[in-house]
Amino acid sequence: MLHRTRELQTPSGKLNTPTLFPVRNVGKRSSDNTPEYHKAIPDLNTAMINSHSIYTNESIKSDIESKTIHQVMDFEGVVFADSGGFDFRDKDELPDPEKILETQQKLNADIYATLDLPPLPDMRSSKKRRRINKSIKFAERASEAKEDDALLYATIHGHDARTIRNSIQYLEKNGEFDGFALGGLVPFRSNYSKVIDLVLAARQSTDKPLHVFGLGGLLYQLLLMYMGVDSFDSSAFIRCGSHRRYFVPGFGDHTMSEFDSIEHLPCSCPVCSEHTFSEVKASRDLITKHNLWAMVLEVRKFRWMVEAGEDVENYLDLRFEGNEVTKRAYQTAKQKIRRLN
Ligand SMILES: [Zn+2]
Repeated sequence: MLHRTRELQTPSGKLNTPTLFPVRNVGKRSSDNTPEYHKAIPDLNTAMINSHSIYTNESIKSDIESKTIHQVMDFEGVVFADSGGFDFRDKDELPDPEKILETQQKLNADIYATLDLPPLPDMRSSKKRRRINKSIKFAERASEAKEDDALLYATIHGHDARTIRNSIQYLEKNGEFDGFALGGLVPFRSNYSKVIDLVLAARQSTDKPLHVFGLGGLLYQLLLMYMGVDSFDSSAFIRCGSHRRYFVPGFGDHTMSEFDSIEHLPCSCPVCSEHTFSEVKASRDLITKHNLWAMVLEVRKFRWMVEAGEDVENYLDLRFEGNEVTKRAYQTAKQKIRRLN
């Protein structure tokens, strides 16, 4: 089996994995902003930020110059700073990997992901190759430039298992990294078989912590934890909340109007315990908070199963039963993992 629990040390304290990093849209004042969660959910001492977008955001520039990112967010936990590589377009001038590292250091983040230039599915293969190689070079340069005690994760890409394996093996030899972060999977999120191949290739190539960017969701996170992924980030709870989609514990996300006739919500998280059905339904913020609780409770349950030596597959067999597509995805992962043993 590949799934596991671990305890990592970061400048802001320990990090128990597997874990979820909620995406924090620092500086954005929009309806999809992340709710306050870290005081309400003590074990969710994690946050994912986008270094480049924070540093180029004029509205918080003065704040960032004088305060750490922890002070800006009023947050004491573990901050994972993504480089923001996914936001760059061909016409943009790309910052130096050293510049991104300097930004991550100034923000005082705990985990830095190296600058990357993701290959996109519709690009010619020569262009994809150039971007993958450039991202590898960027990771090497970041490893040379880094001096502090934050954790450095090399961001890697590839649309086939071999590229992922080669990239990790090369970087293990040619740089010093505390972990690896697999990016660029969002365009393939519905192609479960491909995602499973790429994640398993990464998992098998290193024993170091593995983060997967952009795929966190109620069921996706279970699949990732099952494949031995140590951390993942998610904004699904916010996105679903803003569309009034409620994560039903043990099931999936449902529009709240689908079950208008019930009086009590099928969840005992603090949000659902303290509010009536109509209060939750009327508030995007409450749905979002509940959704985050629903995700955290799944992570807690998963960690408990590993610690208690319970059969994770027995649980997942039941958990994935309800939906044909995700059930097939889980079965595929299960078969591939069995073949590895
Ligand atoms: Zn709830």
